[in-house]
Amino acid sequence: MNDRTALVVYRKEVKIFRILFLFILLASLGFVSWRIASSDDVTKHVVALYKTTNALVVEPRDMHDIQENNPAEENRTERLGTEFAAIDHNEIVHDGNSGIVELPSIERNTRDIETLRNQRVMLITFDDGPAGDTTSRLLDELAKRDIRVTFFVLGTKLNYYADIAVRAHREGHTVSSHGYSHREFTTLSDEEILYEVSKTNILLYNLLGVQNRFIRAPYGSSNPHIRELVNMPFIFWNVDTLDWRYRYDDVVYQNIMYGAQDGAILLLHDLYETTVDGVLRAIDSLLSQGYVLISLEEAEALGYIDPNSYRIYISIR
Ligand SMILES: [Zn+2]
Repeated sequence: MNDRTALVVYRKEVKIFRILFLFILLASLGFVSWRIASSDDVTKHVVALYKTTNALVVEPRDMHDIQENNPAEENRTERLGTEFAAIDHNEIVHDGNSGIVELPSIERNTRDIETLRNQRVMLITFDDGPAGDTTSRLLDELAKRDIRVTFFVLGTKLNYYADIAVRAHREGHTVSSHGYSHREFTTLSDEEILYEVSKTNILLYNLLGVQNRFIRAPYGSSNPHIRELVNMPFIFWNVDTLDWRYRYDDVVYQNIMYGAQDGAILLLHDLYETTVDGVLRAIDSLLSQGYVLISLEEAEALGYIDPNSYRIYISIR
């Protein structure tokens, strides 16, 4: 091949590559815009569904009296895991009217709201549960003291510890949502966020027979768009006990007492024995100082939380 022929072949190759490149570019552009358009449709659909039904509600199941005999954990996985893990949007059933299906309410150990008014109050909140033994021991001890706290539970944990959530609700505590699988909302699409929120709302409704009205975002992570999308009060905190990092009951106790003030929202996790030990000591000190420890629902009933807003609450004062 002489130089001239080589040049012609070279030019032909360049031409082919150019055409190929242009084709790939156009194909990718087409694919990307198709993806954007279709994911936008799905998002719009989920958002619309979420808004019309307020909280997506499935047909009631008679789950209220399950797990009374407190079986071993592997039995939980078998009996509850399959039951609850199966729930997803495909199972959503509406009554054709409001979308809300009435469930018989669970009898609860509630307090007279008027006795809580004009008191120095605090919200003690526990994230990431329900857990097994630690949450059960905590509930035993809380019952002795007749106080109320709030559990922001994960949908994935409800799959195994539904009975503990029902017990907490029955004993007057607030059981609310921490999302389904602890994914950080700011890293998710609108569709994924609403999936996380709705799935846990469905589980809570099926278990407790009440609509969940609040959310604690995983990692406390949200933004104005996410709050408007989810359309519920976002409960943050102003006292972080760092109980997950420092597994010493003394540190938990000190951090609670250091942050104690009227209207405070305290962040703990009912996963650790050290948290339970530390918080129980702190509760006894706070009660002796005249604080009243209330649940999120009691705060709502007292007018400290507006369930129809999507503002972020750092404290309740
Ligand atoms: Zn968490």
